[in-house]
Amino acid sequence: MKELQQDIRAFLKSRGWEDQYALKKDLALSISIESAELLECFQWKESNEAVKENQEAILDELADVLIYALQLADSFELDVEEIIRNKLEKNKKRVW
Ligand SMILES: [Mg+2]
Repeated sequence: MKELQQDIRAFLKSRGWEDQYALKKDLALSISIESAELLECFQWKESNEAVKENQEAILDELADVLIYALQLADSFELDVEEIIRNKLEKNKKRVW
């Protein structure tokens, strides 16, 4: 995961966009915006139909969501695996 975050950092630096890491609010907004783009791939379709027709776009939008999520985690200098495992532990203790 760290290597992926480094690759994202390198890409942003190559574009002169490395200042994005200071903009936590905008990274959070971007996750939501890209999530909406992902949902748009499914809009007005049955799930299987949407996947059949839009699989490439679905995977692209999912990747956009994940890239912004990794950037936001990186902006907090967090270990992504650790925060996911911590949250899974919290979820296990939760009464649904
Ligand atoms: Mg997108």
